Parts: sequence; C-alpha cells; structure tokens
Amino acid sequence: MNQAKIPIAVAYGDGIGPEIMSAVLLILEESGAPLQPHVIEIGEKIFLKGIPTGIEPSSWETIRRAKAFLKAPITTPQGGGFKSLNVTVRTTMGLYANVRPCVAYAPFIKTKHPKMDVVIVRENEEDLYAGIEYRQSPDVCKSLKLISRPGSEKIIRYAFEYARHYNRKKVTCFMKDNIMKISDGLFHQVFDEIAKEYPGIENESWIVDIGAAKLADTPEIFDVIVMPNLYGDILSDVAAQISGSVGLAGSANIGAHGAMFEAIHGSAPRRAGQNLANPSGLLLASIAMLVYLGENAAAERIHNGWLRTIEEGIHTYDIFNEKTSKEKVGTKEFAQAVVKNLGEKPRELQSISYKGTSKFSALVQRKIAKEVTRELVGVDIFVYSQDTAESFIKLTPSHAWSPLTLQMISNRGARVWPHGHPETFCVDQWRLRFMHKDRKSPVTHPEILKMLQQVHDKGYDVIGTEHLYLFEGTPAFSAPEG
Ligand code: NAD
Repeated sequence: MNQAKIPIAVAYGDGIGPEIMSAVLLILEESGAPLQPHVIEIGEKIFLKGIPTGIEPSSWETIRRAKAFLKAPITTPQGGGFKSLNVTVRTTMGLYANVRPCVAYAPFIKTKHPKMDVVIVRENEEDLYAGIEYRQSPDVCKSLKLISRPGSEKIIRYAFEYARHYNRKKVTCFMKDNIMKISDGLFHQVFDEIAKEYPGIENESWIVDIGAAKLADTPEIFDVIVMPNLYGDILSDVAAQISGSVGLAGSANIGAHGAMFEAIHGSAPRRAGQNLANPSGLLLASIAMLVYLGENAAAERIHNGWLRTIEEGIHTYDIFNEKTSKEKVGTKEFAQAVVKNLGEKPRELQSISYKGTSKFSALVQRKIAKEVTRELVGVDIFVYSQDTAESFIKLTPSHAWSPLTLQMISNRGARVWPHGHPETFCVDQWRLRFMHKDRKSPVTHPEILKMLQQVHDKGYDVIGTEHLYLFEGTPAFSAPEG
C-alpha cells in the first residue's frame, strides 16, 4: 500500500533560490521521503504584480493546508520598497522561534573552530523587526524596538525546552540591558525567571557585544544561545560563517500552528544562475523539516549521506580549499553526489541518528501575568525645531507651563536643559518632559491634552508624544541623562 504523501508548501525564491531548491528537492525525492510539494510563487515577482504583501491569498491557503513550508531565500530591497516577506511570513504565521544550528565539520571544512557546535535560538516576531519606523523630522528617523513579556517568555522557554529535548547542557542569553535597560532589561529578567524552572540546565547571560566577541573567538564554550531578533539575525550569520560558510546553516522557524524551514543566508544575487551556490543550508533545513514531520529515517539517510559527501571532499566554491577538498563542484553536481551517498554513513565525522528523536515543539504556555499597578505621571512631547540649541533652551523654559511643569529638554537622549553642556551636538528633534513638580503625582489625560495644546499654541511643531508611567511605583521610562 502506498504511504499517503505529506503535503509541503515550497517556494523557489529569488537569486540562487531556484537552484538550491531544485537541488534539495532532488535529494528529498531520491531519499524516498513521502512528500508532496505544492509550489507557490512569492517575493519579487508577486510584488512586481502589484501585490504589496508579496504573497497571494491562494498561497496563504496552500501554506495553511501544508504540514510545513520549505522556502528558498527571497530578495528584499534595501532602504525602501516592499516590506521583507520573510518577516511577514514569520509574524503572520506566528513562527516565534528561529532555530539555527551552526556546526563545524573539521577537518573537512576549513574552520578556526573545529569543536564548534552552537545552536542559536533567535526570537522571530518582535524587536526592531516589527518594522515600525518613522521619519519624525527632516533630521531624525526612529525605529521601534518592541520587546514583550509573552514574546520573551515564548522564545526563552523554547530555548530551555530545546536544550532539554536535545540533551544540551547550557543556555546562554545575549542582550544589552546596560543600555536598553527597559526593553532588553525585560528580556534578561524573563530569562532569569525561566532559567530557575530548569535547574538541570546551566544558564548564563552576556551583554551582546562581549558575548559576540566570545562567540567569534571561542564558540566552543557556547551550547544554546537565545537572543532577541536583531542580535540573533546578525550573530547566526557570523556563527555560520566561522563554522565554515554562511552557506552551511539551515534554520527552522517554529510556531504553534506551523513551521517554515529555510537556509539562514539570503538570495546572493551575485551568485545567481551560475550553478555555484552551496545548497547545504537549505538541505539541512529540509532535514530539520523531515524530523519535524516525523520522517526520521529519511532525515537520517540524507544527513549521513551529506556528511559523507562533505568528507569525500566534494565541495562547492564557498567551502573549497586546496588542502581538504578533492573536487570543486556546482550546485547540481553537489546534489548528485549527495544522492549517490544516500544510505552511506560518514567514516570519520560523527554519524547522525534520529532514531528515537521525538517530534519537538515546545509547549508554550503563557504565564498568567500578575496584576500590575500602572500610574500615569507625565508626558514626553517631541517637537521639530530648527532653532539653535542656545536659543531653544533659553526660550522654552521661559514659558509659563501649566498645570504640568517642564522637567527636562533632551536632544537625541542627551539632556540639554537643565544643566546642559554647550558641547552637545543637537539635531532638529527635541524632547520636552512634563510632569508635576514632585515628579510622582498622577497626571490625567486632560492635563496631557492641555499641555499639547499649549506647546502647539506657543508655536512649536509637535511631532510625537510618549506617556510616562510608573509600574508598581517604578519609573517605566528612561531617566534624563546629561
Ligand atoms: P546573502 O546571504 O544572500 O549573500 C552574501 C554572500 O554570502 C554571497 O554573495 C555569497 O558570497 C555568500 N553566500 C550566501 N549564500 C551562499 C550559498 N548558499 N553558497 C555559497 N555562498 C553563499 O546576503 P546579502 O547579499 O546581504 O542578501 C541578498 C538578499 O537576500 C537581500 O535582498 C536580503 O534581503 C535577502 N535575504 C533573504 C533572507 C531570507 O530569505 N531568509 C535572509 C537574508 C537575506
């Protein structure tokens, strides 16, 4: 009796995408994995048809009906144009965990870090990737960095569950809460809370700059690293590259209702159409997909066949080197070599066994947030002015502000009044902080509206506001620095 085939959605993507996808689909087919690919068109071509999301409604349906989505890289224009389709798919489908194993294959692939075996668990739905950006004045653009408690809980719990499931020993958190005390501070706080629930797994935290330096220098001291979206995006490329090539790492995007598998690298347009690209990143992603679908036997056959090919020195240009490689091959020839090795095991590299690896998707339960008291105590009003700093900070405090008092003026976060310094470089966006004199009495919304009206009436160009709250009596806004 024929086994029912598992429907998967497949997108060939842009640039090198079609070449590496064809290579991977060939290997999947030859492995005997019972998959039924349903091809959808997404990305550049769809944008050019005038569909702003880059994905047609019928394609969403295909993705929804499929058990997994295998996606080649998509080109996203820099500095303008359409929004990243990758981000749209991840957030729309709730694929909150981006899991990126970066492994060295020494001595067969050249690397300075032969013992490297790091899994980067990147938060996938929020942070600066929310893509909420504004140009507030001719001089100043801003991007909202959103870190939420449920978002942090989901990804950090996922990282610990992943470590437990795959018998990993340590979870490290990278963040930058010495600077972003409130947003990255929350991520760190949630990490510390959840780490306590996993006493059998070691945990540690690094400020991302020194953490990144350590990762680049001694990756073997890390095991699983969990981090907010932007740091994870950047550092997984670094980790993949130092393991041997950015073309080697695959990634799984996991959510409660579906999963997408892709290479970590992009569409490498310069390499497109030349049969050059390494399909390994997408292939390793497809192996993770097979494990996700419970097709462990096929996953194992492909993974071991791929390791054997790497050992045989059959290498694409990015991992080719005179000492350890035997034959420089193109994308197609590499795929054919892997097909030939299906069923073989590596001779020196550790062979892979997925027997007994149960399907893993972390149980994500939101902790019931305790009631928190929240009190409005002020407002920051942002104004646009081309005035000189000298004149702005002379005039603005001289007005009779009421019922709130002017507490502070800052420019790009640096306090310029009171106690400013003449050296501070100022641009055309100013922040005026209004609170009651004692800085802690509650402020009402009508009082804020009155202040906005006054600022406007006094001839200022209001470009934004932020409310200032105390949560449980603690200021939930950054302190004015000078
Ligand atoms: P990139 O990852 O596409 O390529 C950078 C360089 O890395 C290439 O020029 C090439 O030298 C090397 N490289 C990458 N993949 C390779 C492979 N499989 N084999 C051999 N060498 C490989 O990065 P980029 O040039 O900054 O981005 C190109 C486009 O890809 C951009 O539009 C970007 O937005 C997009 N992108 C998409 C995704 C995705 O779809 N998930 C991820 C990252 C970037």
